Amino acid sequence: MTPGGAVLIDCGEGMQERIAVHDRWLRRIGSEDRTRLGRVRAVLLTHGHLDHCWGLLPMLHTMDKDGRTAPLAIHGPTSRAALRWVEEGHNGAPGLDSGIHPGDLAIQFDWWRRHGGKEGTLRFDVEWNLHPVDDIGAEGVEILNLDGTLIHAFHTNHGVPSIAYRVRTPSTPGRFNIEDARASGLDEAAIRDIAKNSNDHRGPRRQERTLILSGDTTANVSSFDESIGPVDVLVHEATFDDAHEEHASAYGHSTARQAAQVGVAMGARLVALNHFSSRFQDLSHLGDEAAEVHPNCHLLEDGDRLQVDRDGMIRVDRRTTDAWVNILDLRLE
Ligand SMILES: [Zn+2]
Repeated sequence: MTPGGAVLIDCGEGMQERIAVHDRWLRRIGSEDRTRLGRVRAVLLTHGHLDHCWGLLPMLHTMDKDGRTAPLAIHGPTSRAALRWVEEGHNGAPGLDSGIHPGDLAIQFDWWRRHGGKEGTLRFDVEWNLHPVDDIGAEGVEILNLDGTLIHAFHTNHGVPSIAYRVRTPSTPGRFNIEDARASGLDEAAIRDIAKNSNDHRGPRRQERTLILSGDTTANVSSFDESIGPVDVLVHEATFDDAHEEHASAYGHSTARQAAQVGVAMGARLVALNHFSSRFQDLSHLGDEAAEVHPNCHLLEDGDRLQVDRDGMIRVDRRTTDAWVNILDLRLE
């Protein structure tokens, strides 16, 4: 959830079910927060591996059945070669000698559009946006502006065209101190006017806040350093542990330690690790390895809520049977 609306990053098999289960849980505990599919403004795919995108087409059909009319933007990476291949009107998958990965999202988008993912079948507009990674420089590319919340894409390294997303909320005026305004003897009309149009009686200006989601990637990404700009939270994949470092780079993934090193290079205040290999029953050694490098590393679990607020607090809450339990609080600056 951003101040400009909800975005969904990746959409593997079973995603809509997980969103529905979480929404029911929120309702059961009496929360005012909700995770309804109807609120999603954009879907941002990091790459075309099926465990990250196979749930998209069925989700579009659920949105249609739910009566959605608002347009939906979908973004994902591709390559120039795959775009050309689709424009040429080929059928089937590109051959092994084509240099085009069969999992490239240009090919999957084309297939999904032809199998019910477009106007005429759906009663809402879907904007299918592809971003060739060949065209993305180290400074990234802006792909979305959600009422001032800017989302940029950065290329990553995963053996198939892949991108990371940077979400940056704008700097905003400081909190209006109504007691302070009243104490100065102003009447209510004047207070309303000042609250709307002036910087008087306000706390310090709130900084922009930045969160980066790596998607699947090795750690040696050229733009993943301080040049990416100030970063509050890095959510980085940590598929493997130290013992599997070679395996990680061979398969386009990172170790927990490498993810923490990226967090140090970016100057991230918190490194939140996700995407762990299912070979590990117990993840605590991944946390230990990362903690040797970065002081604030956190292993995310399914259902965790990570919030960065405008006043500079980072907070992680864990979903238990009947309540959120706060497990991490960090102040920025
Ligand atoms: Zn992948």
